[in-house]
Amino acid sequence: MATKKKTKKMKKMKKNVYFFGGGKADGKAEMKNLLGGKGANLAEMAGHPNLRIPVPPGFTITTDVCTYFYKHNGKYPSGLQDSVNAAMKKVESLMGKKFGDPKNPLLVSVRSGARQSMPGMMETVLNVGLTEKTVKGIIEKTGNPRFAYDAYRRLITMYSDVVMEKAAGIEPAEGKGIRRQLEEILEKKKEQRGVKLDTELDADDLKDVCQKYKKKVKQVLKKSFPDDAYKQLWGGIGAVFSSWKGKRAISYRRIENIPDEWGTAVNVQTMVFGNMGENSATGVAFTRNPGNGDNKFYGEYLINAQGEDVVAGIRTPAPINKNSQSDHNKNLKMLSQVMPKIYKQLDGIQRRLEKHYHDMQDIEFTIEDGELYLLQTRVGKRNGPAAVKMAVDMVKERLISKKAAVNRVKPEQLDELLHPIIDPDAEKLNKVIAKGLPAGPGGASGMIVLDADTAVEWAKKGKKVILVREETNPEDVEGMRAAQAILTARGGMTSHAALVARGWGKCCVVGCDGLDVDYSKKKVKTGGMTLKQGDWITLNGSKGLVYKGVLPMMDATRENVILNRFLKMCDGIKKIKIRTNADTPEDARKARDFGAEGIGLFRMEHMFYGEGAEKPLFKLRKMILSEGEKERKQALKELYPYVKKDIKGTLAAMQGYPVTIRLLDPPLHEFVPHQQDQLKTLAKSLKVRMPDLEKRISVLKESNPMMGHRGVRLGVTYPEITEMSVRAILEATAELVKEKKKVFSEIMIPVVGADTELWDQKEVVDRVLKEVLKKYKLKSLPIMVGTMIEIPRAALTADKISRVAEFFSFGTNDLTQMGFGFSRDDIGGFLPAYLDKKILPQDPFQTIDQDGIGQLIKYGIERGRKTRPGLKVGICGEHGGDPKSIEFCYLAGMDYVSCSPFRVPIARLAAAQAADCK
Ligand code: ADP
Ligand code: MG
Ligand code: MG
Repeated sequence: MATKKKTKKMKKMKKNVYFFGGGKADGKAEMKNLLGGKGANLAEMAGHPNLRIPVPPGFTITTDVCTYFYKHNGKYPSGLQDSVNAAMKKVESLMGKKFGDPKNPLLVSVRSGARQSMPGMMETVLNVGLTEKTVKGIIEKTGNPRFAYDAYRRLITMYSDVVMEKAAGIEPAEGKGIRRQLEEILEKKKEQRGVKLDTELDADDLKDVCQKYKKKVKQVLKKSFPDDAYKQLWGGIGAVFSSWKGKRAISYRRIENIPDEWGTAVNVQTMVFGNMGENSATGVAFTRNPGNGDNKFYGEYLINAQGEDVVAGIRTPAPINKNSQSDHNKNLKMLSQVMPKIYKQLDGIQRRLEKHYHDMQDIEFTIEDGELYLLQTRVGKRNGPAAVKMAVDMVKERLISKKAAVNRVKPEQLDELLHPIIDPDAEKLNKVIAKGLPAGPGGASGMIVLDADTAVEWAKKGKKVILVREETNPEDVEGMRAAQAILTARGGMTSHAALVARGWGKCCVVGCDGLDVDYSKKKVKTGGMTLKQGDWITLNGSKGLVYKGVLPMMDATRENVILNRFLKMCDGIKKIKIRTNADTPEDARKARDFGAEGIGLFRMEHMFYGEGAEKPLFKLRKMILSEGEKERKQALKELYPYVKKDIKGTLAAMQGYPVTIRLLDPPLHEFVPHQQDQLKTLAKSLKVRMPDLEKRISVLKESNPMMGHRGVRLGVTYPEITEMSVRAILEATAELVKEKKKVFSEIMIPVVGADTELWDQKEVVDRVLKEVLKKYKLKSLPIMVGTMIEIPRAALTADKISRVAEFFSFGTNDLTQMGFGFSRDDIGGFLPAYLDKKILPQDPFQTIDQDGIGQLIKYGIERGRKTRPGLKVGICGEHGGDPKSIEFCYLAGMDYVSCSPFRVPIARLAAAQAADCK
């Protein structure tokens, strides 16, 4: 009983209100969870001995109170009122004013502030405490009636909007909100007076506006604007808590993945006034330029204004200094000119803040009658190029460690540096004509082309084209490659178009619902606008936007020196190797430039697609459609030189870095031609009649080719295919050895489910190896033989498989496909619903499903290394370029991840960030 009483009492004593001001503070920066970001930093600025920055005194009501508020139907914990009153007393005695006092009134702001900043998503009410009586007190005290009524009309606007309408759950018709209706009154007044700016209205004008405002509020909301300071205060507090569950806040949290449980704090803070006249101002600033990362103080301000005005864009803000000048504001006076002393003080404060927080800060300041105050500081948001520049600079300045620097840049932010982008200024001035999903980053302009062949044809003539399709399929690949960018009406982030574009780092927008593609009329309709083939459009693939015409591009890679320095820093920290998936010598070289440390997947069949593929493809088709071993062997012999040449080129380009070469993987039927003329040529070459050829083709047809005659199964049934491929790899390797070039080849056998399949193929490899060694008079070759783990059974029997396999490469695309039983080409029908209903937390083809497929991987690695300690393990699926999956792979003990060339820099960063996790 006694203890129960005690805990009850302790609960009651739990501190709900934290004071700051007068050089002291109850809280500090580390208490963000309890005080919210704004409150914690206000406390830090006010109370930390290294800072002691002028902050108007006030107090923070904790996020715990917010949680309580929602658990108890909008009630507050007992004792809160007393705590608030006590804190208010402290503020009053510091300021020598009293809240609600008609003679010498204190005014406060009531501000929201969550753990993580949610800019503009929640509410703030300024000038709380102004009533019919106190407004007179203010006038007497300041001798400035214009200012008093300006503050009053702002309070009525904010309060009626935030407290009386939004928090009360009143949903006005579009454009009929109380704020809008009050603003109309103000507009009318300005019109009447023949002025343009709020600041040009005088005291009488504003006094009249206030009266009209109050009438309007009563008339529209059926309630009077409260004429009592404490009523306003509690109204404001409740409204801020309610704004946590406001529409905007909820959708912002969903996008940013902020948990609903966090809640917001409420900050009650003494008002300081930037709207007291020409000697007053308000502004926002960044300790470095958030647009390009330059280490230069940057900001904007407005004379005679209150906080909200700068962001609201009512007047064009002026630059605080030379660094902040732009075409828009260069004719306005700088703060450094107008108030040089204050500017100097502000500059000193911003330096101190950055040094203290070790990061770029975004600050709010107000100057009240020649006196400077700081109202907020937080870590400033920045774009990709700025993030990289700041990270590198801050290491140089010894402000942060390399490790910290690496963690300052989000992997997605690197994307912005690797592709040209649309000039953001131009983008603002143009109308978006269609919206889809951002599938491939950067920007691109081109002429609309509706089919792949035309795309190739036009591109050959030197035209820039954008391939626009309902959706794409593998037959469009040529045209996709030739195009500057790809736009599709259907499909999601894992659609064919998205996947291919991502692999190439090509600009791409998919799933543009409003797009109507008419192939026959060669026209595209969107939002009432009709475009024809040949018309120019511009895509923003980072945001999924489409514009008409050509918009100017900006080279986002101009910071490359800095990017490289940053990535070197990542390399110094990461503990896992980054390889790339590349199928051509050209791709291999590109990947080397991006910093790849090997090729994790070279797909042999790729030499039969695309440019220069006609001849080898013809030989392959001949091989596929031959009858009997003899005919097939002859065709393979003809194919051999092409295969060897391609492999040798890639091995050479990688200069000794390992190259994993996968033997022929897809079902043979995929290579059979569909066009009549091609079939005829083939028949001629094989010396068979067309009906016979057609019969041979029909035999190859399978009802489920994905799980049909492919991969290792081809090698088991036609060992001569394995023999040819392996010989090409080994001879290419041997020749490079003879040429005294560095080389390392890894032969990878795909679609293995049983160790016995591998033993069968290993025999072929060993036999060919002996022959090649003899031919080149060598004792050994720098090679390894391993397998792809992509069938669940392979993962489960990894201990047996690793007896023969010298390395594992997890093919997580197929492993996910077969592990889930999801056909990757058909997920469009259900995956969106799965994600929507949270049946799956994310697309398992983008991020490794750690609970299921991840377990197969972990188990496979563990069992594999049991039989073969030190077994080399990597991943070659799409997941190899996904930051979260990279972290998983590292923790699972892999030696490397492999991703498409363009994602290599991102993978280097993600790997460095993961290094911290173990
Ligand atoms: P947000 O999180 O949307 O920026 P804030 O709580 O920071 O909301 O407040 C909005 C604006 O009002 C800011 O410009 C801020 O500087 C200003 N402001 C807030 N409290 C005060 C105050 N006590 N005195 C003067 N200006 C204030
Ligand atoms: Mg703010
Ligand atoms: Mg596969």
